Amino acid sequence: MALIDVQNLKKSFGPLEVLKDISFQVNKNDVIAVIGPSGSGKSTMLRSLVNLETIDGGTVKIDGEYLIEQGKYPSTQQIKTITGKMGMVFQHFNLFPHLSVRDNLEVAPKMLKTEAPKAIRARANDLLQKVGLADKADAYPANLSGGQKQRVAIARALMLNPQILLFDEPTSALDPELTGEVLKVMKDLAEEHMTMIVVTHEMGFAKEVANKVMFMADGEVVEAGEPKTFFENPQHPRTQDFLRKNL
Ligand code: ADP
Ligand code: MG
Repeated sequence: MALIDVQNLKKSFGPLEVLKDISFQVNKNDVIAVIGPSGSGKSTMLRSLVNLETIDGGTVKIDGEYLIEQGKYPSTQQIKTITGKMGMVFQHFNLFPHLSVRDNLEVAPKMLKTEAPKAIRARANDLLQKVGLADKADAYPANLSGGQKQRVAIARALMLNPQILLFDEPTSALDPELTGEVLKVMKDLAEEHMTMIVVTHEMGFAKEVANKVMFMADGEVVEAGEPKTFFENPQHPRTQDFLRKNL
């Protein structure tokens, strides 16, 4: 059974059809790189999976449960339960500026009382260690580099033990010399078999880390496939054109 099953997802902003008819599946342990020109609907697609956008039609099943069934949503509690299976990392980090790094990690689990405070503290320490920021627990976001902020955001997304991580252009706001440290953390997660959807312009990551590449243009999935075939032998003229300009 697919961990994420999206069928015929549709979304408009007023007259603008942003997602025309999107269908795809994500299996456990997949790392899916989503690429495509700006404005093609990549962020809207990702945001709709965690209920940050309300969609107009289609079906989304997460781990066998309906987040959206033919355009209809379940109860608020059910939506929370389902979206709680996913963590999201944004282009602009979205850290709480008034909270220390440690508190950024601990605030949601403490509020949700998922574990005892001691266990939450231990988990935060472990995750900061994992992203190489054990020494920054008491720092505030303003005093971190972009790469450090994004690594904190990844650690924070992992605090609630998600089954799936969604990344929306996690390195696009970073100076080029800082992208590597973030991509490294993401690559480590992939090697630990974290299921991930990564919207990215990093073609190297798509080629080397993803097991599937999905190309979106104008609110549609134009082409998808295993990276080697996708990059070496793209079928659709729009994919060929995009790769010519972006490789
Ligand atoms: P991408 O992430 O691929 O760049 P987006 O999903 O952000 O694309 O946007 C797709 C289209 O939807 C764009 O034309 C964008 O301007 C439009 N759009 C996104 N969010 C909104 C919104 N809240 N209101 C109106 N238009 C929006
Ligand atoms: Mg976007």
